[in-house]
Amino acid sequence: MTLRGRLTTAFLVVVLGPVLLGSIFVALTVTTVSRDRTAERLDRAATAVRTSVSAACRQLQAVADAVAVVPENDRAAVAGQLIARGLATGIEIGATQRESCSNPGDGPLTAASVVGGTTIAASQAVDGAFLARLSVASRTRVTLTSGDETGQTLRLAPEPGQPLPLTITVPTNRPTLLYAVLPAVVLAAALAAVLVARWLARTTTRPLGELAWAAGRVADGDLDTRVPILRPDELGRLAATFNRMTRELQAYVQALTASRDQLRGHLAILGETLSSTHDLQRILQVILRTALAATGARAGLVLLIDPVSGQLVAQCGVGLAGTWDLPDADLPQQRLPVGEGVLGGVAASGEPRRGQGELATAEPPCLSYVAVPICAPIEDGDEPETLGVLALYDRVGGDSFDDADLSTLRTFAGQAGVAVHNVRMHEEAQRLSLTDPLTGLWNYRYLRESLRREVERASRFGRMLAVLVLDLDHFKDVNDTYGHAAGDAVLGEFARRIRVGLREVDVAFRQGGEEFVVLLPETDAYGGAIVAERLGAAVRDRPVPIDPLRPDDLLIPVTVSIGVAVYPEHGAGAQQVLAAADTALYAAKRAGRDTYRLAEAADVTNSQVSPAVHEGNLDPKTAVPTGPRPPGQARGR
Ligand code: GH3
Ligand code: MG
Ligand code: MG
Repeated sequence: MTLRGRLTTAFLVVVLGPVLLGSIFVALTVTTVSRDRTAERLDRAATAVRTSVSAACRQLQAVADAVAVVPENDRAAVAGQLIARGLATGIEIGATQRESCSNPGDGPLTAASVVGGTTIAASQAVDGAFLARLSVASRTRVTLTSGDETGQTLRLAPEPGQPLPLTITVPTNRPTLLYAVLPAVVLAAALAAVLVARWLARTTTRPLGELAWAAGRVADGDLDTRVPILRPDELGRLAATFNRMTRELQAYVQALTASRDQLRGHLAILGETLSSTHDLQRILQVILRTALAATGARAGLVLLIDPVSGQLVAQCGVGLAGTWDLPDADLPQQRLPVGEGVLGGVAASGEPRRGQGELATAEPPCLSYVAVPICAPIEDGDEPETLGVLALYDRVGGDSFDDADLSTLRTFAGQAGVAVHNVRMHEEAQRLSLTDPLTGLWNYRYLRESLRREVERASRFGRMLAVLVLDLDHFKDVNDTYGHAAGDAVLGEFARRIRVGLREVDVAFRQGGEEFVVLLPETDAYGGAIVAERLGAAVRDRPVPIDPLRPDDLLIPVTVSIGVAVYPEHGAGAQQVLAAADTALYAAKRAGRDTYRLAEAADVTNSQVSPAVHEGNLDPKTAVPTGPRPPGQARGR
């Protein structure tokens, strides 16, 4: 049964029940009252009938007595007069003895008087007139029989003083109008109740039906659905609450969708960045922004432990400008000691932390924070190595970070750990592929790349580049005399002395075997010659000990020959200037070794031609090539 049906039934029961009960009560009461009144009337009528019959008996007795007291001869005349006057319907003189006021069955009513042995009987016929008189006296219908009488009756049996068997009938006093009106009233009330019940049920259930319909639409995903507020009653309040709930749900879903789209975008960028670049700063920046989008944090910071200083160094930050003293651009200068404050504690312990506003003064001020360690991926048997810290600050909306945020951030920290590890592995692999394992100098592969780059830079800025090619003299003899291991030690020591003797901007390479190359940016032939002289002296002046721990035991004297060429003076391109330096080196060899030679100025219009070699000597002052020096050119050391 529907709610509307149940409500209708309830209304009908509540309204019709009392109406029906009331009408039944009224009908019963009316019937009882009517019956009581009829019985009362019958009683009164019976009394009146008995009184009338007694009066008739007394009258007959008086008539009989009156006839008896007159002389015998006049009795007939008097009797005639009395009958004429209607006091009796018959007077019998000399009748048989009979009981006074008796009923001879269906005969007349008789009274007798005896005088002198003669019985005088006066009689009254029990006819229609007599019964009519009784009816008038009792205000009822009085009959001898009750055969076809309708209405309420009372039978009077013969008894002393009332010898007649009479039936008193009163018409039934039924309130017929009431009985006709009462069902009509009940019917009308029932009809009205049904209509009212239906209207009430409809007006009550309609808003509920609309609410149910709207709830179904919302459940199907249509969050634009609203229900009309018809009246400011409970159902109206329910409708208003439903509308508010749907509105807020819609706003929430929109915010969630926007944030999901944003996060999806960030994740796409993250995936693309991780797979396409080894630029660590960029990767960390993208990871940080994705972590911010995923947790709703206002600001964030990534710090990595600097392997050299052991301190935490800020790599990138978002949303910290204005709250931390320095804008984001200056973040790389921010350093925090490991073990101090929240971030230092996370880095030292490798345990994540979250809380509210208890950071050290050196750390970004905030209301709440969550910080997790960035760990290197764990390989078999390795201890987890903490590479840095990923920290987020102040969740938008004011809530502090919860366990779900911590878990999310750990995921991103894991990504950052893998990225840092990969980039460092890549850098290491690159370094290994570009360096010479014996001397630690850059190898020939990197020489080609660096030379091309330096020549290009010198060309762009109109600067010079000095190229030195160094070859140890009679190195074969060193190997032959002291062994290959001693030769390796000499090569290593030679490389170290080259490194020590150069500026930071200068780069040294092992070209192969016992041949080395040094690039001196922004250096002319004069500067190149000075460096060649210094390097030659650095080798010549201090023979190399075979065992570095016992430097005086066995010393190997070593000398080096050096060829010097300058871009663009001695070659128009990278290969040309290197070839010029090589040519100068052979010139130095030919000149007896343990010396340097400067390439001769090349014909840059025909760069394929090997440049002539300037016969330099060991005095750098006289080794300066002729010709004007470019203005503003830096000198070598
Ligand atoms: P020159 O003065 O004409 O340059 O004479 P040299 O003996 O130095 O020249 P040569 O090219 O004949 O010999 C180079 C030697 O360098 C040959 C090789 O045994 C040695 N050599 C090359 N690479 C290495 C190395 O990695 N370790 C050692 N111990 N020796 C090496
Ligand atoms: Mg050689
Ligand atoms: Mg050699």
